[in-house]
Amino acid sequence: MKYILIVLVFLFSLSCAFPHYPKKYEKLAVFSNDTVKDISINVLPNNQLKIQYLGCGNLLIKHKNESILLDPFFSNNPSIKTSLGKIKFNPIYFKKGSSFIHKFGTNFKDISTVFITHSHYDHLLDLAYLLDKDSLNDLVKIYADESTRTVIQHFIKKTSFLNADSFVFKNNEIPKWIYINSEMRMLIIPSSHAPHLGKLHFMKGNTDSLYFKNFTNSTQKISANQFKEGHTFAFILDILQADTIAFRVLIKGAGCKINNGRISDEILKEHGIDLAVMQIASANYTDCYPQNLLAQIKPKQVLITHWEDFFRPYAPNKIKTVRATNFAYFFKKIKTIEGVWPVKKLSDQFYMPKPGTMVIYEF
Ligand SMILES: [Zn+2]
Repeated sequence: MKYILIVLVFLFSLSCAFPHYPKKYEKLAVFSNDTVKDISINVLPNNQLKIQYLGCGNLLIKHKNESILLDPFFSNNPSIKTSLGKIKFNPIYFKKGSSFIHKFGTNFKDISTVFITHSHYDHLLDLAYLLDKDSLNDLVKIYADESTRTVIQHFIKKTSFLNADSFVFKNNEIPKWIYINSEMRMLIIPSSHAPHLGKLHFMKGNTDSLYFKNFTNSTQKISANQFKEGHTFAFILDILQADTIAFRVLIKGAGCKINNGRISDEILKEHGIDLAVMQIASANYTDCYPQNLLAQIKPKQVLITHWEDFFRPYAPNKIKTVRATNFAYFFKKIKTIEGVWPVKKLSDQFYMPKPGTMVIYEF
């Protein structure tokens, strides 16, 4: 009887990590089925930053007429193909993702800059297609590491590829801000990637140039395991007004290990983090994320990304949570820092958008 009880308790606790509809978080208003969500932070007239969540780490960020894209990925593939077979670009899901972007009046050609957090397939597979089909404009700039360059080596044509490693912020050095325009700048900061399951950390290291020499058609089948992580980055995005920082966003493309991903105090002294965009996928397998980072940066708002099961068809109405991630544990870890960063009501600080949702931050 005792053993049956232990097994039942074990299965119950494990079940929180199985994909399920986020009913609990819908009740708590952390998740909703809205396609537009307005969040106000110190509102001044006409100050808006729009972040459209496109699934996984894929974000379209808009300020006035400027559009930037992070981690382009729409092509969900079944887990069996990801682990044992080969994955491929999915035209149906790409079309669905494109329709989300078009719905709010943006075209891929409007995007001036693309940033890649790391080189796993679920952060860049559709970038190969966008370049291969000339869907991005000729002047677009891509900031990523050499592992990403290896993946897209056959598709970089007129587009300008910039090695993100040469812009990475190093303590005691002058930050190399990337000015997207006079009101928008980005800083690349070093980060790390959490293990995927327990202590298992898949697809580490750099991509193999020889393997991707054969990736000449962006729609061909390819092994997901060959998309090695490369270097993992986080980003700080500033919206500037009259030479001062009006709004600051931290964007994390992966749950980080140990204390990697701490933001330099010098940078934080200049201006705090208004919004933290944080991934939840695999956050359970680090002892410090997200609580240590949140305790340090104390953001006004948190946007939770990479939260849905990307091994399923791209269907926002049948959405389920990402596998192997216990959401209750994620929030439990946050509770441990309530003396430093109190959360009275989850929905006051956290939002988990449905793919396609345009989240508007007014500041
Ligand atoms: Zn990854």
